Amino acid sequence: MRVPPGVSPGDFASAIKQFQEAIGKEWVFTSDEDVDTYRDSYSPFWHENEEPIPSAAIAPDGVEQVQAVVKIANKYKIPLWTISTGKNLGYGGSAPLLGGSVVLDLKRMNRILEVNDQNHFALVEPGVSYFDLYRYIQEKGLKVWIDPPDPGWGSLVGNALERGGGYTPMRDHFDCHCGMEVVLANGDVVRTGMGALPNAKTWQQYKYGFGPYVDGIFSQSNFGVVTKMGFWLFPEPEAYLSGNVMVSKHDDLFALVEVFANLINSGTVQATTTVVSPLAFGRPDAELTALRASGSTKELEDYAARKTIPYWSVSLPFYGSPKVVAAQWEFAREKFSVVPGVRFQDGASYRFPLDADQLATIRNPVPFGVPSLQTFSIGGARSQGHMWFSPIIPMTGEAVLEAQQVFDQVYKDLSGSEGVSSSFPVWSFFARAFVIIYFFPIEHDVEKNRRNREIFKRLVKTSAERGWGEYRTHTAFMGDIADAYSFNNHALLRLHETMKDALDPYGILAPGKSGIWPKAMRKAQA
Ligand SMILES: Cc1cc2nc3c(=O)[nH]c(=O)nc-3n(C[C@H](O)[C@H](O)[C@H](O)COP(=O)(O)OP(=O)(O)OC[C@H]3O[C@@H](n4cnc5c(N)ncnc54)[C@H](O)[C@@H]3O)c2cc1C
Repeated sequence: MRVPPGVSPGDFASAIKQFQEAIGKEWVFTSDEDVDTYRDSYSPFWHENEEPIPSAAIAPDGVEQVQAVVKIANKYKIPLWTISTGKNLGYGGSAPLLGGSVVLDLKRMNRILEVNDQNHFALVEPGVSYFDLYRYIQEKGLKVWIDPPDPGWGSLVGNALERGGGYTPMRDHFDCHCGMEVVLANGDVVRTGMGALPNAKTWQQYKYGFGPYVDGIFSQSNFGVVTKMGFWLFPEPEAYLSGNVMVSKHDDLFALVEVFANLINSGTVQATTTVVSPLAFGRPDAELTALRASGSTKELEDYAARKTIPYWSVSLPFYGSPKVVAAQWEFAREKFSVVPGVRFQDGASYRFPLDADQLATIRNPVPFGVPSLQTFSIGGARSQGHMWFSPIIPMTGEAVLEAQQVFDQVYKDLSGSEGVSSSFPVWSFFARAFVIIYFFPIEHDVEKNRRNREIFKRLVKTSAERGWGEYRTHTAFMGDIADAYSFNNHALLRLHETMKDALDPYGILAPGKSGIWPKAMRKAQA
């Protein structure tokens, strides 16, 4: 049996015995066969000794059991790695950052405590998946939508705590949470926002409560174990309408993005979309491949004109009443008409609710609040897994072009070819800034993974030099990213460490998460 770092085999055996007494023997997993299921199946350390493998996993079934677990962990200084449903693929899966940690698996805590379709919110435990909540809403015929990310098997709680994103106007998942219950490292239970008021009537309607707003410190952190979380839901809209905006010149990007940002920032466009160059997508013909590699803008523009392909395009999604979405699209067209030669095309249009036959015709139902796993077709043929490089860049045409240069170089480094990056759409998962979600392949090939990790680390630095920081990352790079957020001699990290020392002096919760190490391990990691 593996043992957590710094813990003697005797102490670990005593801790395991006490975990078994606290939550039931069958919910404490120590066999290799069981523990293997918590490894990161997209690990960039595949076949390498550095792969962080847990020593055990435990699955409590309620808040009191979580409290008992953290008390035992404190007594024996056992590092715990909390997961809700553990589907964080691309960012570490269900594996801990520190090898030998015990995975605290909250999958069994999967109660849907409330769904309210008058005030449009839900209160759920960590083990509730998007599929679970969707089915519950369907069975009860409630008039609310959830906002799933691409894979629907993850949890609302884990995804929001990682500050993940979806597609509808509720797309910023941490922003759309309202109220938490958290077990602290010392076993105390805290309710945030209005939840601190006994018998509160608005825990899921008003975020702030009274006094400092602390919810943020429990996201992407190792300061607590979240055991309940509220979410704002989207009132089922009557209609959906999308419209394509297409421009033909390379430099039209600047005006296109400027108008787009205005529409986002004014609330006219409220959902996730991407700005793309259709010239960079799909399987290029030989002429386009050669043109893309030669990098001649004029020739690419001529090619696009001949083939009637836009140089850049953005598809705008609108949700609401039929009158309102039609007016939003009309208003958007008016705004974009400042770009010479701009073209518009009506896109998909739906009235809700969709029946099963209509749903079956939709390739990707996720933007309509319907969880799915179809996203796993991504990269299937290209790799044995992947990790994402996800920097936040300004919502400007200049930044998009700069990113294009950087990622063309990354593409060359990764593929060893002289071509250009096949595609990297820039996403509006969050208001006011773009995020790039760049696909880094994982192979069952030690040398390739080593080289790719080096490229990834270099990219963190290159991005930081350009003023771009990652919004989220794989556990393997959390230290690198935290290091890049270095203003004033790492003042933010020092603040995080001060909080860590105060809240979790024995460092039992997720050592190393987001670059935050407990005092006792800090020097060794420096
Ligand atoms: C093909 C593909 C497409 C993807 N598309 C998207 C997408 O569109 N949007 C998106 O956001 N993500 C996406 N992802 C990433 C990931 O799959 C999802 O974010 C997924 O929801 C995360 O898994 P989870 O919900 O099970 O979280 P978990 O794995 O349970 O948790 C994630 C992390 O949060 C912390 N944590 C979890 N629960 C708690 C808790 N109760 N208390 C304290 N800390 C906790 C832990 O550090 C944990 O490692 C994609 C991944 C793949 C492979």
